[in-house]
Amino acid sequence: MFGDKKEFTILITDDEKMNVNILGDILSPMYNLLISRSGARAIDLANEHKPDLILLDVLMPEMSGFEVIKKLKETDATNKIPVIFITGLTSADDEEKGFFLGAVDYITKPFNKSIVKARVNTHLKIIDQMRTIEHLALVDPLTKISNRRGFENRLFAEWGNANREQKPISILMMDIDKFKTYNDTYGHQQGDTALKAFAEAASRSLNRPSDFAARWGGEEFIILLPNTDSEGAGEVAERVRKNVEETDIPTEHNVITKITVSIGVNSLIPSENTSIDDFIEKADQALYKAKESGRNRYVISGE
Ligand code: GH3
Ligand code: MG
Ligand code: MG
Repeated sequence: MFGDKKEFTILITDDEKMNVNILGDILSPMYNLLISRSGARAIDLANEHKPDLILLDVLMPEMSGFEVIKKLKETDATNKIPVIFITGLTSADDEEKGFFLGAVDYITKPFNKSIVKARVNTHLKIIDQMRTIEHLALVDPLTKISNRRGFENRLFAEWGNANREQKPISILMMDIDKFKTYNDTYGHQQGDTALKAFAEAASRSLNRPSDFAARWGGEEFIILLPNTDSEGAGEVAERVRKNVEETDIPTEHNVITKITVSIGVNSLIPSENTSIDDFIEKADQALYKAKESGRNRYVISGE
């Protein structure tokens, strides 16, 4: 339940010790706190710890809160962290500037403790709900791995990286073999159990944190391997194939069942002549070849 345990971290930045202490007293019973007394330190802490919320003073020596928020908004790692200004600047112009720079709230000093607490709670509740919605939108409820939309987001980002750095990127398009027969034999619910077992076996086959598995739809799954050429992708494909083949999937009557998978592999370094749609299409064609040539195998596109 929200607020029951310290699941959120707030970064408090103020050059005056007394303000830090008061805010700390109000918020420490409910939240983990990070404290900084300067703008530069706040930026470092934000990058390092990715707090859920930042309370930011404006008037500080060396670097003002307005400069701090600009820096935070310029950086991918920190630009989504909500910022609340807590400041002695009380004019409407300053408040407008604060919102213009991307703050979610603006609280003037001297502040009322209960109101600060209430506003912080409100913002964290919104953050919590946003995360729940994002999770629901991007995760497949059956297998708990990413869904197609989550995969497309990741692919788009990694495609950009591969293009910029001119590094290879690979995908494995996977389809469970004769899954209709499996469903017909053991029932649809047991089919769902097999899909979960498949997702686990596929995820277990991935070694790098940047590797990414998703449910493409139905009994089709997909894996993204950034920074991986066709040789490396072939190794992962074989590992997935083998892990799936070796996985025992018990029924509720303790009968051991098995599934196998066919995999289409495609690898490339993005260029002017390549597109994401074509990248996926070629993996699909390789998958079709794997099916045609006997199933329970992988085929690398173009080989
Ligand atoms: P192939 O080896 O050529 O891939 O044969 P197949 O039987 O797997 O291919 P087909 O596409 O004809 O059948 C896919 C089956 O996957 C049919 C469908 O009932 C089943 N399926 C798709 N989504 C789900 C699901 O969410 N749960 C279960 N239990 N079955 C599903
Ligand atoms: Mg299919
Ligand atoms: Mg199939």
